[in-house]
Amino acid sequence: MPENKVMQRFLRYVQIDTQSSETSQTFPSTAKQKVFGKMLAEELKEMQVEDVYFDSEYGYVYGTIPASKDQSQKPAIALLAHMDTSPETSGEGVKPHVIYDYDGQDIVLQEGTQMVLSPQQFPELADYKGKTLVVTDGTTLLGADDKAGIAEIMTLAEVLMENSDLSHRELRIVFTPDEEIGAGVDHIDLQRVNAEAAYTVDGGKLGELEYENFNAASAKVTIQGITVHPGEAKNKMIQANLIAMEFEQALPALEKPQYTEKYEGFYYLTKMEGNTAHATLHYLLRDHSREKFEERKNTMYAIARQCNEKYGSNTVSVEIEDSYYNMKEIIMPAHADLITIAQKAMEAEGVTPIIQPIRGGTDGARLSFMGLPCPNICTGGHNYHGEYEYCCVESMAKIVKILQNIVTLL
Ligand SMILES: [Zn+2]
Repeated sequence: MPENKVMQRFLRYVQIDTQSSETSQTFPSTAKQKVFGKMLAEELKEMQVEDVYFDSEYGYVYGTIPASKDQSQKPAIALLAHMDTSPETSGEGVKPHVIYDYDGQDIVLQEGTQMVLSPQQFPELADYKGKTLVVTDGTTLLGADDKAGIAEIMTLAEVLMENSDLSHRELRIVFTPDEEIGAGVDHIDLQRVNAEAAYTVDGGKLGELEYENFNAASAKVTIQGITVHPGEAKNKMIQANLIAMEFEQALPALEKPQYTEKYEGFYYLTKMEGNTAHATLHYLLRDHSREKFEERKNTMYAIARQCNEKYGSNTVSVEIEDSYYNMKEIIMPAHADLITIAQKAMEAEGVTPIIQPIRGGTDGARLSFMGLPCPNICTGGHNYHGEYEYCCVESMAKIVKILQNIVTLL
């Protein structure tokens, strides 16, 4: 049973704690990710996968499955998944529970507590009636993000190694650390990957296929005030904290995360501090459209100029740093075949592709701009980064088939 194989791997992998850390100064951010990486490299070697390399410094895992003879002229394709789990919720002592033939009702994760996975709160659970689900015990995340992706790629590797008659392209397997803290490709060796294109297997629900993400930047607004004794302040004092409020008020009121969806971008004030002498505002700027993204930056500079005209030059300064860009720029139209092939690979398994813009970024976005076009494909999991995370086993098995179709079709 293919379901069994991918599930057994998945259950094994989620019990290994690989949580990354936002506060660490090392790479990878936690040493335990390397323990998992080393183990995956050993498993690849046991399958006789070629060129297995465990990067003992940075923790990356690489491997190659050579093309079948008939496809040896074609360039390699890579599949990537990340080994770490989110710092938001504990990944220590994960105890996965398997629910066979799910009845569509509430799933009590932890007896006697509020930890209930309910279709009322998560309506998409209803789609899984009769299926096999893996859930948590209510005290940790599950880690389907992204160990479902790893289990699927490993199962595909096993299928390809055991069936030498299958016609397929050369496949490169890459497992990365520290994706959840935005550093997943900081030390990737693209020469070692040496592929023409790639997919990250790091999406959610079966059918998801993504090649559009936000353009992203962070902005820091610094405001310099003038402090004078309040009793003698008339026409002299300049309050930095009030100018900070004025700055925020000058931004479009509805272009904030809580008022936007789909292709709507935003300014997100993440942090502010201020007194009379000094104030700072920290923003995240997001937009799928590169043009609108640049306009957002210009709006911030324009507000600063206006404040400086009013309060004196050098009162307000704005520093903006770009974080990542929308991979659609790279993928469309030059690599549109990556999307059509993934769609065909899904349809061949009776799965309807769900194409939607990501309201965030992915490692694939950064890789695309580093020269490796890299859309994102589903894993079969839901509710990532928390105790309500769950994954459907039948979806995982289908995704193994979809990945197999991708390497044979391409
Ligand atoms: Zn992920």
